[in-house]
Amino acid sequence: MKIILLGPPGAGKGTIAKALMQHDESVQISTGDILRGAVAAGTELGKQAEAAMTAGDLVTDELIMGIMEERLQQDDCQQGYLLDGFPRTIPQAEALKALLSKLDERLDCVLELDIPRDIIIDRLTTRRTCTNCGEIYNVKFKPPRAEGICDVCGNEIVQRDDETEEAIENRLQVYNEQTAPLVEFYRNEGLLVSVPTSDLEPVMDALKSRI
Ligand code: AMP
Repeated sequence: MKIILLGPPGAGKGTIAKALMQHDESVQISTGDILRGAVAAGTELGKQAEAAMTAGDLVTDELIMGIMEERLQQDDCQQGYLLDGFPRTIPQAEALKALLSKLDERLDCVLELDIPRDIIIDRLTTRRTCTNCGEIYNVKFKPPRAEGICDVCGNEIVQRDDETEEAIENRLQVYNEQTAPLVEFYRNEGLLVSVPTSDLEPVMDALKSRI
C-alpha cells in the first residue's frame, strides 16, 4: 500500500495508520513524529522546527521535503508506506508528485478522514501522549491504568504543547487554510477516497477497491 492519510489533527490518521500496518508490510511515516523526535534529541532540524510546532504553525516546505526525499528512498519503503501528516500544503503535494515520478512510484490512493470539528476538538483536548514511547491515551476514553504513567513503558504521559486550546484552534485554522485544498487536488488526480469515520472496518471497506 502506498497511501496518504489526509485529515485535520485529531482525525485519527495515526490510529488508522497503525491499524492498517497490521494488514501488510507498509510502514507508517509521520512527519510530526519525526519532527518531535528531532526536537527531543536537540538536533539542528529540531531547533529549526520547534517554535512553529509549539505555536501549531507549519514548518517550512523546504524542511519537510528535505526529510521526506530522504525518508521515502529508504529500504523499508519498498513494501509500501502510509503517509501520516504529509503532504500538508499544495507545494508539498506538487513536490511529492515530482519525487514519485522521479522514483517511478505511484500512490494507491489518498484516504481523507472527514471528521466533524466538535469531535476533533474534544479528542485533542483530552489526548495525552507518553513522553518516551509516544503511546496515545485519552483521559475520557482510554485513561492509563495509573494516572500520568504510561502502561507500556512506565514513563510520564503529558498533554502536548500543541494540544492546548489556543494551539488547537490555530492548528485547525492552519488545516483549513493550507491543507484542506489538498482534498480538491487529490480529487482531481482521481486518488481521493473519503470516509466520515476513523473506525477501521468502514475504512477498510472504502479502501478495498483501491489496494
Ligand atoms: P502532527 O503530529 O502531524 O499534528 O504534526 C505536529 C506538528 O509538526 C505540526 O503542527 C507542524 O508544526 C509540524 N508538521 C508535521 N508535519 C508537517 C508537514 N507535512 N508540513 C509542515 N509542518 C508539519
